[in-house]
Amino acid sequence: MAKRDYYEVLGVSKGASADEIKKAYRKLSKQFHPDINKDAGADEKFKEISEAYEILSDESKRAQYDQYGHVDPNQGFGGGGSYGGGGFGGQGFGGFEDIFDTFFGGGGSARQDPNAPRQGSDLQYRMQLKFKEAIFGKDAEIEIPREESCDTCDGSGAKPGTHPEKCSHCGGKGSMNVEQNTPFGRIVNKRTCQYCNGTGKEIKEKCDTCHGSGRVTKTKKIKLKVPAGVDDGQQMRVAGEGEGGVNGGPNGDLYVVFSVAHDEFFEREGTDIYVEVPLTFVQAALGDEIDVPTVHGKIRLKIPAGTQTGTTFRLRNKGVPHLRGNGTGDQHVIVKIIVPKKLDEKQKDILREFATTTGDKVDENSEGFFDKMKRAFKG
Ligand SMILES: [Zn+2]
Ligand SMILES: [Zn+2]
Repeated sequence: MAKRDYYEVLGVSKGASADEIKKAYRKLSKQFHPDINKDAGADEKFKEISEAYEILSDESKRAQYDQYGHVDPNQGFGGGGSYGGGGFGGQGFGGFEDIFDTFFGGGGSARQDPNAPRQGSDLQYRMQLKFKEAIFGKDAEIEIPREESCDTCDGSGAKPGTHPEKCSHCGGKGSMNVEQNTPFGRIVNKRTCQYCNGTGKEIKEKCDTCHGSGRVTKTKKIKLKVPAGVDDGQQMRVAGEGEGGVNGGPNGDLYVVFSVAHDEFFEREGTDIYVEVPLTFVQAALGDEIDVPTVHGKIRLKIPAGTQTGTTFRLRNKGVPHLRGNGTGDQHVIVKIIVPKKLDEKQKDILREFATTTGDKVDENSEGFFDKMKRAFKG
């Protein structure tokens, strides 16, 4: 099991700041926390995220990781060689991966009865959504290539009219006894038959469609309803649309992961939307009524006289619908006051004239800025 790059796990760049790393970790850990996310593999993902954060959030560990990459898990056992042969990490001791697998319930599948019904694998599909499609949802049709049981042979792998026979190598048992000399004496090991892969069956005449595997890859069209309010990175489970089951087992599930495009004007945070609108300083000083874009259409917004740059106005229910339950988020309109860069002589004169009426005071009640500064130097 190759380890993924920690930066890749958190979806940040190599040069990411501590803040960016923390933010990414918070977002992902919320998404995959086993208490919240009951999907298969979520706990494994959560573990991976936590491990990546543990390293990248610690300055010295991060520096070490940047320089050396993942630390070899066998290193801790004193290196190879001293125990002869394959070293300590690999076989006798179980090794790191075994511990890992057992812990997460992933191990043991190799020893499973190959003829037992097995659930098909889960599949993941990444769906690109435009900014507004994620907000309002949409009907979509996707094409998924997936492995299914072969219709021609009903999954047996044998040519129609014929049947799989007993494996001639293992006599149909699916395993063979192998004798081995060890320092502890002669040991008889039961090994999976390599000719039939443990099924105990041998196919003499193979099905032409699947060439004996009993499985074929088909492209299936699936209709989906993308719910309103999905966000970047969220996933939707479509039960039973993963790969077909084996030996009559149930199908796996399909997970559709959404990737939501950015918008030129709107910025989304959860169910709230942020938009920055420019105002001239005259509009800000005298007040005005302006049109503000929202994803639900234009809205008339009253700007009171004396509005400061950075002031935020809230437009209730003009954000993103809640994915679960009722209600809609808000839109926040952040005002940005634009100072004109080019003025003609007449405009300049008007402003100079204006300045003589106010001095350097920002409003009628405040102390002048330069007066304040003089006071500061005296003290
Ligand atoms: Zn066999
Ligand atoms: Zn077939």
